[in-house]
Amino acid sequence: MSIFEPDEHLKQAIRNWLIVNIPQWKDFHIVGAAKYLGVFLGHNAPALTFQGPTEKYLDRVEELASTQAPSLGTILRYNERVASVFSYVAQVTEHPDPNNLKSIEQRGVHKVLKLPPYCMSRQLMHSCEPFLLKAPVAITSMCKAAMYRFARAESVFLNQLKAEALCLLKDDQSLVGATRDRVPLGGLPHTPILESLLDALGIKGSFAPLGPLVKSCPDLSWVPPRTPLEIRENPGGFLGVCSVLDSRHVPPLPLPPSLGGKVQGKIYECFSKSEKCGDFAKAMSQKLVVTLGVEVSSSLRVPVNWVATLLEVLRNVRPHTASCVFKSLIGGWTTSVRMHEHERLSCIFGCREQPDEINHYFLCSPLWQIAGQSLQVQAPLCLAQRLCIELPTPESARLLALVFALYHFCKTRAKELGGAPVIGPNAVQRIAFEAAIALEDNV
Ligand SMILES: [Zn+2]
Repeated sequence: MSIFEPDEHLKQAIRNWLIVNIPQWKDFHIVGAAKYLGVFLGHNAPALTFQGPTEKYLDRVEELASTQAPSLGTILRYNERVASVFSYVAQVTEHPDPNNLKSIEQRGVHKVLKLPPYCMSRQLMHSCEPFLLKAPVAITSMCKAAMYRFARAESVFLNQLKAEALCLLKDDQSLVGATRDRVPLGGLPHTPILESLLDALGIKGSFAPLGPLVKSCPDLSWVPPRTPLEIRENPGGFLGVCSVLDSRHVPPLPLPPSLGGKVQGKIYECFSKSEKCGDFAKAMSQKLVVTLGVEVSSSLRVPVNWVATLLEVLRNVRPHTASCVFKSLIGGWTTSVRMHEHERLSCIFGCREQPDEINHYFLCSPLWQIAGQSLQVQAPLCLAQRLCIELPTPESARLLALVFALYHFCKTRAKELGGAPVIGPNAVQRIAFEAAIALEDNV
């Protein structure tokens, strides 16, 4: 039987019992779940616990998305103020719908970076550090690392508590329960807090998929749970306490002093690998195929190490320039076609019968001419060089970044003036000429 939200009939029955037996408590609220130290306990508790932080996350995403900071500043702020809203409750509660959390996160990251939805896969958005200098925090890994840290700090107490809880059951343990050595669910569909914390500590349960990753990190030898045999051979600093515990619970190895107590950061570093691209360069090439389409991509020649070569060049330009190059490669232009806007525009700079679409703007003559004139460089004719895939230089990166910045500035400005079709391409080009002088200082 699972626990349900108490109805009026049940509430009244409980109230009547209180009136008779504990009259001082007669005015207590009778509810299915209640908050205790910021965390809900009872019916639907994990969902209720995460509801507040999720709302706060969405509000802060909106707030950050409305500012004009460059990508690096945005990511730093996002990590510090937005993603962090989950860390308190995540210490003791697992998200009831991990996939939903990931999808909220993916939308949030795209929104704050002002990118069209789904420009980056969940893995790519956690791997963009080489281009953007910092990647948005992987929230699921952050939550799991927070829980591990808390469980680790309280491991002795948690194991004692579980031993006491199981002891209380005495002969009331079910046959199934007796085979599992788990805290009973008590009719609730989710894992009890205590059991979640012990799962974290033992890299079991929902933490089990991270086991191979933990084992592959040589500096995390203090994480994997030890077998009773291992503990007899090397008791570490815990033997005195261990002897009072259930023999099935094995305390973890002591933390190495070199860690300086930074458990969460170290664990996050490891866990977050599961949310990143295994091969970043390959992921970038795959994304570029999506940006350009199969037809264009099939005829485009790319040097073998184009990502590494480009990243080397981008070390000599501003972070903002590198972020505009990255956003172009991943198809992060908010054109009317990409944003599925009601009104599909033509090229806002006036190219005949050309759509308001990224593939056209990579070739758009007026746009590249205005940007080239402003930077006093000749725009390359070949697409691979325009995109800094072939023979990248700081100049070609700046040119692509200026083209990116000019388009977005002109589209926004034209919108304020009534829309690009209303003001016409000549006016848009004039806006671009004037804006180029100011925008080129940023790239
Ligand atoms: Zn054009």
